[in-house]
Amino acid sequence: MKTINKIRTRFAPSPTGLLHIGNVRTALYAYLFAKHDKGDFILRIEDTDRKRSEAKYEKDITYGLKWLGLEYDEIYKQSERLEIYRKHAKDLLEKGAAYYCFCTEERLEKLRRQQQEKKLPPRYDEHCRNLSKEEIEKKLKNKTPYVIRMKMPRNRVVEINDLVRGKVEFNTNLLDDQVLLKSDGFPTYHLACVVDDHLMKITHVVRAEEWLSSTPKHILLYEAFEWTPPKFAHIPMLLSPDRKKLSKRHGAVSLSDYRKQGYLKEVILNFMLLLGWNPGSKKEIFSFKEMIKEFSLKRVHKAGAVFDINRLDWFNGYYIRQKDLDEFANLCIPHLEKAKLIHKIGENKFEIIDTKEKVYKDFIKKAVALEQKRIKKLSEVSNFLKFFFSGKLNYEKSLLFWKDMKDKDIRNSLEISYKKLEEIDKDGFSAKNIEAILKKAVEENNLTNGELLWPLRVALTSSDRSPGPFEVAEALGKEKSLQRIKEAQKKIL
Ligand code: GLU
Repeated sequence: MKTINKIRTRFAPSPTGLLHIGNVRTALYAYLFAKHDKGDFILRIEDTDRKRSEAKYEKDITYGLKWLGLEYDEIYKQSERLEIYRKHAKDLLEKGAAYYCFCTEERLEKLRRQQQEKKLPPRYDEHCRNLSKEEIEKKLKNKTPYVIRMKMPRNRVVEINDLVRGKVEFNTNLLDDQVLLKSDGFPTYHLACVVDDHLMKITHVVRAEEWLSSTPKHILLYEAFEWTPPKFAHIPMLLSPDRKKLSKRHGAVSLSDYRKQGYLKEVILNFMLLLGWNPGSKKEIFSFKEMIKEFSLKRVHKAGAVFDINRLDWFNGYYIRQKDLDEFANLCIPHLEKAKLIHKIGENKFEIIDTKEKVYKDFIKKAVALEQKRIKKLSEVSNFLKFFFSGKLNYEKSLLFWKDMKDKDIRNSLEISYKKLEEIDKDGFSAKNIEAILKKAVEENNLTNGELLWPLRVALTSSDRSPGPFEVAEALGKEKSLQRIKEAQKKIL
């Protein structure tokens, strides 16, 4: 097998915030593109902004990728590679492709202000571009602080053949003499990115469209180093439904927010896959394997992709319902624990925090089964099933009333339910049996369904929005169900 042309992509986030959902898509596309061809996927932490980079964000990135199953083959951290960038900046100086700039912050600030007043775009005025050798040496000797700037070639057109956007041209006269090495000795994004993509043998740079305007600078840097540039694929912007760039204003934007709300990792992957990539068919549900097999950059479209939360919820509901009960319970348990309803005390054993009762996982399975068909997000289980893990329920008496029932009607209704449930054998205490027996009781007593079942449901759940009373009774078990009816009766003495 030939290994020379092995595809290598990278994901290069800056750890200056929680992993953004848009970046997740970039990572996914870069990953899929590499893995489709059995290539390598590299994680590069771009932490050269010393003020804004934080270790906790780096952790959030690596944790997020791991959670999603986007495993990287290699990992690098730019702050550990400073010498490499410095050396390459010096190389550019020697080649005449870069120059020392000794301009002070004050001078640059003044320049910016002047440009602003004239409504010109901010831009370096090339003041130090042509300093004499002597001047430079003198300043260096005096330890005058400096940055290294790129000597942008002028009067040229740089052409990019982007794998998504096609041919894009840039006039070099519009490009600033970009800072490559900052005065603190740290590289800027542009220098570090180009040096690393080259040294890490990246064959395809897959990144968000917002970086397209940086690409001509990068191409010119490759040229200055006399390196062959990688191929570029700029993937479309993620938009909110109002077609503006997706930002915090539109709700959650970090992967960890979505994880905490209980979106499944399969859903994030599947949903992101389709936000910018067209499968070329009506197929919507993709397993991880299928994604790797079918993904190609050719089907990534240019137009911005609208992030529709309703569609995300639809996917989440769909995947939740595909889970077998045991796995679904495993996914719900952390949410129940976080809501302080239960905590784990042993293998498959839990304590209900409110009542100190010890229960097995089966009990939890019965509870979450009640919601598996209805919820959109895992975190909802803690709210909807709170009644399940509570001792004494707390609710207003008025909730028990169905339509214009009076106290005596409620008393009668609960009395019937109690008796009927009491008569059922503990082993036969199934939703099906309970339903048959209570429906019969409705007829025998000349009641409506609502008159018998509404007060019962409220007694069992303290809620007017809950799964049906038969399923709830079964899941609670005979003893607890009877006990709850009794509690309700006490409210209407
Ligand atoms: N560090 C840049 C970012 O935060 C990387 C851009 C690129 O992929 O070149 O997105």
